[in-house]
Amino acid sequence: MSTAKKRELDFGEFPSGTVTEYTTLVCLACIFDIFTKQLRMAPRTAFSEVKRQTPSIDELTSRGAVRPYFDSEDKNPHCPYCGSAKRWLARFDTFCIEGGKTTDAARRALLKQLPKADDQFVVLERKSDSRAVFFEWLDTLGLNTDLHDDTWLVEATRRYLERRQPKTNWDEVFQGIRAVRRSSRITEGWEIDRDRLFLAPHLHSEAILIQYLVSRSHAHGGMTLDGRLTLMDLIRRLRYSGYLERIGVTEQEMGEVFERVVDHLAATHDWSRVRTGSGAGPPRGQPARGAGSDRIKRSTRKKTPRKSAAKSKKARKGKAEVAGPDEIVAEAVKLYYLVDRRDFLEKVKSVYASYTS
Ligand SMILES: [Zn+2]
Repeated sequence: MSTAKKRELDFGEFPSGTVTEYTTLVCLACIFDIFTKQLRMAPRTAFSEVKRQTPSIDELTSRGAVRPYFDSEDKNPHCPYCGSAKRWLARFDTFCIEGGKTTDAARRALLKQLPKADDQFVVLERKSDSRAVFFEWLDTLGLNTDLHDDTWLVEATRRYLERRQPKTNWDEVFQGIRAVRRSSRITEGWEIDRDRLFLAPHLHSEAILIQYLVSRSHAHGGMTLDGRLTLMDLIRRLRYSGYLERIGVTEQEMGEVFERVVDHLAATHDWSRVRTGSGAGPPRGQPARGAGSDRIKRSTRKKTPRKSAAKSKKARKGKAEVAGPDEIVAEAVKLYYLVDRRDFLEKVKSVYASYTS
């Protein structure tokens, strides 16, 4: 059976950071075994049953996969349950797309183009919120970041800016940029001076915050453009730079301040709408005009090890309640999981052929 050359899906129309890719492997020997031995189906029946399988969102995206699903970074993976080699293994690629104004049109256009036969593609939907989406984005950024590579701070800053201001062509802006600094001249936006990118203080503060969040679990404190910072250093910087005042955080206690700042970042999944506080920025709720129509060349979407969204969400739940009367409520976000079943369908056919011959 000839394997048609696969057409890569093009997510070029989606703003950076709004699509996360997951890959999970499934062992067809295990599946057939389950259907024919445990469920006592004839191979023919098992084949048509197996062909219809689409794993659940959790099976497609969580780390703790169970038989017949598993995860492997290996070039030549083997089934961890039965030892089967590559030709028995099929891959599901899953693309999680954040719903919303900036992605809806692109998503509809993409889905329209996809072949319909045999359920080669399946879309699963799940309700989520901006907070979960923010931490998912942060985790993906962390997984794609090599903290031993000195350029990661600039790279993480760029990822953050791409997500915060999707209308800007950051590829162009970052061309030749070697360092990022806090500007003492401008109060909004950014400017370039030779190979240095100067950010308005609040953008710089948020970049540092993101870097802290990404790296804090790897080191004592976090690594940032301002050097290695403990939580206390970080809060102090955010206070002295005027960032806390800008976003209206008046708490004094360190843990509370940190929660409020993270709440602020996670309050919307569309960062181009992030409220920047007392009259300084665009008002909350202002639509991100045109953000969906500008073509953004994206490069964040890398293959990432799968991770558990549910886990990190749970861990945060308790803390969110501390925020108090003016607690920022996370926005509802719909997530669309586009499952690419092409590899699976092809493998099922070839495996069935060898099974019955
Ligand atoms: Zn197996």
